[in-house]
Amino acid sequence: MVELLHSCNTSASLMSEAALSDVLRGHVLDSLTLLPLIRRAGLHEGRMVDVGTGGGFPGLVLAIAEPSLRVLLVDATRKKTAYLERVREELGLEVGVLQARAEDAAREPALRESFDVAVCRALGPWPLVLELALPFCRTGGALFSQRGSDAPSEAAAHAGATALLGGRVVEVEQVGVQAGLENHHVTVVEKVESTPVRYPRKAGIPAKRPLI
Ligand code: SAH
Repeated sequence: MVELLHSCNTSASLMSEAALSDVLRGHVLDSLTLLPLIRRAGLHEGRMVDVGTGGGFPGLVLAIAEPSLRVLLVDATRKKTAYLERVREELGLEVGVLQARAEDAAREPALRESFDVAVCRALGPWPLVLELALPFCRTGGALFSQRGSDAPSEAAAHAGATALLGGRVVEVEQVGVQAGLENHHVTVVEKVESTPVRYPRKAGIPAKRPLI
């Protein structure tokens, strides 16, 4: 997977050259920090969606590390999904790849509220992540999102938006310290009730006018 990432990076604009040089720790290990939390929640045998997966982080790494997860990788950009389809083929993986905006995909009846787990990394500000990812989770499922040093304060600041979308923050855990990752957090949001049908709003609106 890392070899393919190197050879396809320029054409698919998967990540900066600087980031590419620290792929193993910065991306692969970072993606794996989600796994103990997903297992602890007892959701590791379920359906998982990675919203804004880019070059497959964290979803592709998790699909390889935990084959019992049934994983769908969603990204709006064709270049990214074309790369992921190639990786899937070359590694013989059983992962779904969907080129779509999350705002549209989350309205598909087959996808809405049908995942046990949603994961999200580097998609954008916290309220955007909540609005794009929570509609995919079934009640009783959870969102596991990789966040930076502001994770505790942003989770507290957006408790209103979280509740509006049917979620409740259950933990904000610092992760990856032993792997040398600094200020990496995972925010876990349990889906406690159904997301109102008006969310996510139309494509582009969640980023332009974030919920509070
Ligand atoms: N999760 C990856 C990529 C982060 S970059 C990583 O951590 O490396 C953000 C990615 O989200 C980009 O690939 C972009 O195409 C995608 N994206 C942004 N807005 C989106 C949306 N509304 N729906 C689906 N994908 C989106």
